[in-house]
Amino acid sequence: MSTNQEWFDRALSVIPGGVDSPVRSFRSVGGTPYTVVSGEGAHVTDVEGRTYLDFVQSYGASLLGHAHPAVVERLRDAVSHGTTFGAPTPGEVRLAEIMTSRVPGLEQVRFVSSGTEAVMSAVRVARGFTGRDKILKFDGCYHGHSDALLVAGGSGVAQLGLPGSAGVTANAVADTIVAPYNEVPRLDDTVAAVLVEPVAANMNLVAPRATFLAELRAECDRVGALLIFDEVITGFRLDYAGAAQYFGVTPDLYCFGKVIGGGLPVGAFGGTRAVLGVLAPAGPVYQAGTLSGNPLATAAGAEVLSRVTPADYAHLSARVARFATRLGEAVREGGLFARVPVRGPLLGLYLSREEFEEPENFTAAQALAENGLYRPFFHAMLDQGVALAPGAYEILFVSMAHRDEDLDRAVSAARAAARAVLS
Ligand SMILES: *Cc1c(COP(=O)(O)O)cnc(C)c1O
Repeated sequence: MSTNQEWFDRALSVIPGGVDSPVRSFRSVGGTPYTVVSGEGAHVTDVEGRTYLDFVQSYGASLLGHAHPAVVERLRDAVSHGTTFGAPTPGEVRLAEIMTSRVPGLEQVRFVSSGTEAVMSAVRVARGFTGRDKILKFDGCYHGHSDALLVAGGSGVAQLGLPGSAGVTANAVADTIVAPYNEVPRLDDTVAAVLVEPVAANMNLVAPRATFLAELRAECDRVGALLIFDEVITGFRLDYAGAAQYFGVTPDLYCFGKVIGGGLPVGAFGGTRAVLGVLAPAGPVYQAGTLSGNPLATAAGAEVLSRVTPADYAHLSARVARFATRLGEAVREGGLFARVPVRGPLLGLYLSREEFEEPENFTAAQALAENGLYRPFFHAMLDQGVALAPGAYEILFVSMAHRDEDLDRAVSAARAAARAVLS
């Protein structure tokens, strides 16, 4: 039987760093990544035949768990009809109808192939619509890897300790303003758009203060800037209709990805007809994609979204809230201090040797992420068959397939892992 080490060595020789996305590398935690051959529900299995309880869930792309039978069946059917045509298809219309029927202020969406593309395109629309250049993002929020948005990014950018990225010119970021999360910046009429993760989930989890999003909405309105919610993680995961409904604040533009592809590559951006009217072919803002609205991706996404009800989200959120409390207690019983912030079914995990407050911005989240505890904790969990993301800036994803006994197992593992960290 082949080993993880053998596969990773082969990967290293033909794929830079052995991975196709830096967050997957074990660079910040050390060791060799496990190479996954299959997944089912809440679990993944590696090339050595070892099964892990999976809290990565493709960084949030998987809502129902891996290889959900109905999604697999839907894909089997879709694939037999052909996978891409370069012409409109019913599948993209169906998914767009589901999304627009749920999300406040979302009248139209256009599909792309990744979250990165979605955000990049939404920013272009905002600039085209307002005729302004500047955009504002928040420190530690991740909006994909397009040039203008990598600056002060969370997730892998933070994990690797990069201030931004080499290969991005000063000009490319000259119109990007960075502000601390949870503080409403004072804008002026040069700002086209403010881009925000309504729950920041790429610097571990940083929740918005009670009035942050509403005040941001008001400040955008004051100067005529558009508010863009990057809901690539929160969309159709935080809640049945995502963050706008959850927080009662409606943005001008939305970006989606992850969940809406049902595990296949997809992204989407949308808003009102008035704003999206600037897009080609109707308007002057160009944007396109050969595989955009791909029949497989839209079929999988529509299957996932149509299988879940508001009650499913409420149920999952309640279970995750209990899990979070118990996880925090278990870590404390093991001898460390923990904060496990929760919003809907999203949960973060901060560890420390001392009592501390829940972080409200990147500076605080970063100090905790860099305190050295996550690395041994991650490995102690992995040794017990519980897979967390291999980086302290990610959150835990509990899918609808995680059963109560899975969560119990993770709680026990966390208690032992905290002890192992201290020993
Ligand atoms: C993952 C993510 C993106 C980028 O999506 P990709 O599909 O990886 O390009 C953008 N914004 C947020 C908030 C994300 O979590």
